[in-house]
Amino acid sequence: MIDTHCHLDSPAFDGDREQALARARAVGVTDVVIPAVEPSGWAGLLTFGASHPGVHVALGIHPQALPGMAPASDDRHLADLESLLARGGAVAVGECGLDGPSVEAGAPLDRQRAVLRGHLAIAGRLGLPVLLHSLRAHDAMLEELARDGLPAGGVLHSFSGSAEQVPPLAALGLHFSFAGPVTYEGARKPLAAARAVAPDRLLVETDAPDQSPHPHRGTRNEPAHLPLVLGAVALARGATPAELDRLTTENARRLLRLTPT
Ligand SMILES: [Zn+2]
Repeated sequence: MIDTHCHLDSPAFDGDREQALARARAVGVTDVVIPAVEPSGWAGLLTFGASHPGVHVALGIHPQALPGMAPASDDRHLADLESLLARGGAVAVGECGLDGPSVEAGAPLDRQRAVLRGHLAIAGRLGLPVLLHSLRAHDAMLEELARDGLPAGGVLHSFSGSAEQVPPLAALGLHFSFAGPVTYEGARKPLAAARAVAPDRLLVETDAPDQSPHPHRGTRNEPAHLPLVLGAVALARGATPAELDRLTTENARRLLRLTPT
């Protein structure tokens, strides 16, 4: 099982990071992908990934980190990002993406789009996949991706769109990763979306420490909760957890070019 999106570098894990990883391994999570959220975390994340087999990292700037950063430094951060990524050690570009205008305290959409475009250009030049965040911004995201393309593919993480939004995004080469909301009581939209994704484009994640699956909702999430997400997606698709594990693990390995550990 591969947790394709887990913020294990978050301060929420400062007290038990190694133990959280051990608990995940104990339930069958062989690999964890940690996407960076801001430049200050990049170096530490590369070191952490290099010293933990099965831990893979991605480097990028989360749109929610932008309000805390000076707009004048965006270009410098993107240049630093490209030179770090060019040295190797990361499996993808991200986390990057867009928050819709209705998301509180977000950066202006123009700035978000410019920074996202910077990430997409780097991914294109380096041939890396992209880990994308899109919250209430699927139309703007479609426009950006349609313009720049995804030569090495990408993932819409914790996909929150509808089943109808899957085909146009899939046509751009995207994978779709599902998180805790598929386990929530009365979850209809995420389950319908999970059914609409082609088998070879499906991934699972925890998005820990956020989005704890049922019955842990409201508490800190951790990668050991991944089987709950996987189980809910399997049930929705009429597959066994073992079948869905095999499928999503193969998909993650292929997209992120991971070798079995
Ligand atoms: Zn994230």
